[in-house]
Amino acid sequence: MRAPLSLRDRLRAQLADLKMPGALEALDDILAALDSGTLKPPAAIEALLGAQITLRNNRRLQAAMRSSRLPIVKTLTDFDFSFQPSVKREQLESLHTLGFLERKENVVFLGPPGVGKTHLAISLAIAAAESGRRVYYGTLGDLIASLEEAQLAGRLLHRMKTLVFPSLLIVDEIGYLPISRTGAMLFFQLMSRRYEHASTVLTSNKGFEEWGEIFGDDVMAAALIDRLVHHCHIVNIRGNSYRMRHHTELHKDLHRALGSSRRGVAGAPQRSSRSRPKEAAAT
Ligand code: ADP
Ligand code: MG
Repeated sequence: MRAPLSLRDRLRAQLADLKMPGALEALDDILAALDSGTLKPPAAIEALLGAQITLRNNRRLQAAMRSSRLPIVKTLTDFDFSFQPSVKREQLESLHTLGFLERKENVVFLGPPGVGKTHLAISLAIAAAESGRRVYYGTLGDLIASLEEAQLAGRLLHRMKTLVFPSLLIVDEIGYLPISRTGAMLFFQLMSRRYEHASTVLTSNKGFEEWGEIFGDDVMAAALIDRLVHHCHIVNIRGNSYRMRHHTELHKDLHRALGSSRRGVAGAPQRSSRSRPKEAAAT
């Protein structure tokens, strides 16, 4: 006669049956912690489910990294808010709860180079991917090039669908490279199709007043901005480049020497008022 299965074995069998390898792997340690009294039963249940959720999120993330073209992993935990006081922790934490995706709202990060626009856009994309949503990342240049290529190959409709479909599209680096007239029109078409259908997160080193120049057409840029900001959170980052943080003292000395330090952001590289992003209220 076979010996009856121990409770531990039955738990193992149940977790295997439910396809919960993360919880299965954590089971022995959690039971040991329960036996030794270092863990109370409710915390043990939380730890068991937590182990499975962590594994699931890691798997989702790995799959999303492959399909979304995200160039790197960046999270909100890695973001040093004390370095960038113009970024409000509450606003970013609230965005990371992903309500904006449910409401089909957009997020625009504006600010000079190196202040964390791409970092924050990617961390939103990663939060969205971990929640099981479809995400796609591209720089404006890459996205437009892929649309132009698809148009030439007679596959524009298919490519458009691929970019309209994801719950979250990241359009990074608006304003770094010049755009052709066709490219601008294709992008406008894409954004019109995503409007009120799914969220887009955009980053730009140029204020909205300069987007006419970037897209080579003031009227089209105005129509684009109009759709974008209709349901939008604007994060305007004013501060120093994180890449240059070790040189901050150097900057300070330089500005002191030039007598041109700016109020509130001492040490920031001087920018012309034209190239500073326009302040806009988040709605
Ligand atoms: P931007 O897109 O605004 O030019 P990035 O997001 O690419 O800037 O930031 C440049 C580098 O500095 C990245 O490696 C990013 O992770 C890092 N970084 C920027 N700001 C912060 C910050 N406040 N805390 C931690 N790392 C940061
Ligand atoms: Mg960037």
